Amino acid sequence: MNQENINDLIRVLSEVYDENSENTFVSLYANKKTYKKFIDHRIRECKLILKDDILKNFNKTIEDIKGNLKNFNSKSIGIFASNKYNFLKTISLSMKIQNTLIVDSSPYIRPLARIEDEWESFTLLLINSNYAKIFSVSTGKIDDIKKISSDIINKHKKGGWSQARFNRIRKGAIKAFLSDVVEELQKKAEKSIIISGPGTTKNIFIEMLPKNIKNKVVDVIDISIEDEKKLLKESFELIANREQTKGYDAVQRLKQEILKDGLAVYGLSETLDAVKNGQIDLLIIEKDYRMKGWICENCQVVEKGIKKVCPYCKNKTSEVDVIEEILEFAERTDANIEFTDSKEIADLGHVGAILRFK
Ligand SMILES: [Zn+2]
Repeated sequence: MNQENINDLIRVLSEVYDENSENTFVSLYANKKTYKKFIDHRIRECKLILKDDILKNFNKTIEDIKGNLKNFNSKSIGIFASNKYNFLKTISLSMKIQNTLIVDSSPYIRPLARIEDEWESFTLLLINSNYAKIFSVSTGKIDDIKKISSDIINKHKKGGWSQARFNRIRKGAIKAFLSDVVEELQKKAEKSIIISGPGTTKNIFIEMLPKNIKNKVVDVIDISIEDEKKLLKESFELIANREQTKGYDAVQRLKQEILKDGLAVYGLSETLDAVKNGQIDLLIIEKDYRMKGWICENCQVVEKGIKKVCPYCKNKTSEVDVIEEILEFAERTDANIEFTDSKEIADLGHVGAILRFK
């Protein structure tokens, strides 16, 4: 199976499309437990509507997709395919997602972009004076665990030192151990770091961190070294709450920029123009909002409303959700994306952006 990192995959998917605006790409988001009934129903529906070569391509593409569904072990999966373009990408996902099957002139990336936004990568450190564990968490699952332990106790047994000597050596050994952990954490550190553990070691540890790493520490959790399960649950909640706050903060930033007529746009058409010019630094989208529109993949023109034929090149158009198209353009230019349920973004036209330049 062709497995991908979510950021790289979104970038790749945002760049492919059918040049003739034909609906030759199938995007499937499937939940392991519930997808079977759903997918059969959606395939039947699509077959009723698609015709000729597009139908033939759909049938072949679905065969390709079904081949990949056979060995699917994660909670959910995303598959993006077009037989015509010999294109197939998959991603295993560790969270429950809504079953979705979309036939379009390009892969449907909105659910993936939502996951990337909501399930932020973070690093979790659990530490006491002689043991540390670094968890690297991305898109809802633990990718890597690094354990580090100090062997001071063994040395004591072997050496048979006096208590005073042992205490002195122990202090030095703890410091050396913490320095080792600082070094390891530097290698692993994501944008957000959570530090946890019992007692005061974690606070001493934080004071030893270089400034650039210390600035990434978003919270400190006091917890027993054995309570890993509880710690992971709390950490996921904490990161999710932060994500919601980030959405609200982004809208506040947007409002401030608008007030001083600064680096901001809002509303569908202004945002669309800005994203095509590569001006967008941070795109802010109302979570579940959709807007019916059309795209000419030949001219890469998107507008709201309905048009069967492109007014510029007279080619056939494809019906789209304008927000999805804005998102695809934004991903191509490495813009940051923030989804929010803030009512204020709805009032500003459902979408807006902080710009890199004007
Ligand atoms: Zn056109």
